[in-house]
Amino acid sequence: MKNYNESKILSFTELKGISQKTIENHYEKLYKGYVKKWQEIQDKLKSADKATANATFSDLRELKLEETFAADAIILHEAYFDVLGGDGKPSGEIIKAIEKDFGSYDNWLSDFKALGLCSRGWVFLTYDFNDGKLRNYTADLHNQGGVWGATPIIVLDVYEHAYFADFGTDRKSYIETYFLNLNWDVINKRYIKITK
Ligand code: FE
Repeated sequence: MKNYNESKILSFTELKGISQKTIENHYEKLYKGYVKKWQEIQDKLKSADKATANATFSDLRELKLEETFAADAIILHEAYFDVLGGDGKPSGEIIKAIEKDFGSYDNWLSDFKALGLCSRGWVFLTYDFNDGKLRNYTADLHNQGGVWGATPIIVLDVYEHAYFADFGTDRKSYIETYFLNLNWDVINKRYIKITK
């Protein structure tokens, strides 16, 4: 974790259509809130009572459950901020892989956009280590919907906090705008780091 560049995120003053206020609230309040809670959970785990471990309810169980919620929130938000801030022009090695695994770039794009409308939380293009293929997945919660071994490369946050202040209920326009801001240099770096 902690795979992000804070100054880069806070320099998102010129994102197309997504306001600085939205990004600041998203980063400073929500993202940093997850980091704080993750740390609090780590501290509490040190003294959690293992003698009372129980699968219906126990302090240890609740801490371990919410640890995944906080950790996945951090990882997915870092990826979301990481891929923003570009000119939105698709390029690089990952396009060839997308064409191979989805038939065409447009096939992938229309699938990803449609998933943005049917998910309640996240959409991601992943690299699936199980068979070396790219796949789109959705998640309604930070710690639900992920597939073991499939690592997120392109991540879209479709929770209302990500777009409501700028787009109201028009999630479709937010998704279109998200694509105008994608940084394909970063996306290719993420892809190469994962696959090489
Ligand atoms: Fe979010």
